[in-house]
Amino acid sequence: MLLELDHVSKIYGDLHAVDDLSLSVQEGEWLAIVGSSGSGKTTLMNIIGCMDAPSKGTATLEGRELNDLNASQLADVRKNVIGLVFQKFYLVPHLTAVENVMVAQYYHSVVNEKQAMEALENVGLAERAHHLPGQLSGGEQQRVCIARALINCPKLILADEPTGNLDEANERIVLDLFRKLHEQGTTIIVVTHDSLVASCAQREIMLNHGVLAGERWNDDVARQRYVEAGGKPASIGKGDESARSAEESSMPVGFDTVTKSAKTR
Ligand code: ADP
Ligand code: MG
Repeated sequence: MLLELDHVSKIYGDLHAVDDLSLSVQEGEWLAIVGSSGSGKTTLMNIIGCMDAPSKGTATLEGRELNDLNASQLADVRKNVIGLVFQKFYLVPHLTAVENVMVAQYYHSVVNEKQAMEALENVGLAERAHHLPGQLSGGEQQRVCIARALINCPKLILADEPTGNLDEANERIVLDLFRKLHEQGTTIIVVTHDSLVASCAQREIMLNHGVLAGERWNDDVARQRYVEAGGKPASIGKGDESARSAEESSMPVGFDTVTKSAKTR
């Protein structure tokens, strides 16, 4: 497994933003995390992306327990293993598209314009390379962000509502890019409100007020591969003996209901 979360909770005062979640993700898998606003999706992404530590439980990435790493080791994991894509683009407004990609290279101590151009070509933006973010459409800006995230060939792409600001046509372009990356072996975890975006993933898990409320596979072959590799259903529970998978637990709201209602919000 590339990622293992073992009884992970994130607690703010009385609020369990993520509540006792166990989840494994196999290398090469494409997972969607769905749930309405405030259900803990971003909190969970931040833990997986080494930007936040769980209050309880452990997160293990590539066999390394993240709790055991110091700040500079965590920075190395972020830099070398993970590519981040956000709903907000976080592009530097006075730098061109290719320069924005090169900023990411700078953090890897290799600034190479040719490579940055190739990354933009990969997302279909070669002819926009010398435009400023303000001169690009939302979809084009998000593709610059994806090029930036890909600069170090990350094993794991974490995308938090990557199509949240995009129209349908641009959503499709971004999903096609994810499809291409997935075919190349990249593991993708995408947080989304959108049932269409979620349905492109091989597996979906649903959070509701921080609690795992559903899990389903959209791809039987991927499911079989996961089970054969020892992958267990995502679960909630205090101890192993009382752990409950989403299927066994009483689901407060149906999977479809939540994704549909979320989409119409
Ligand atoms: P989502 O991404 O699903 O919309 P979040 O993970 O952002 O949800 O938030 C989950 C819950 O945790 C929300 O109730 C939110 O208000 C709360 N929360 C998130 N970050 C903090 C924080 N730093 N301090 C206190 N509460 C927080
Ligand atoms: Mg969020």
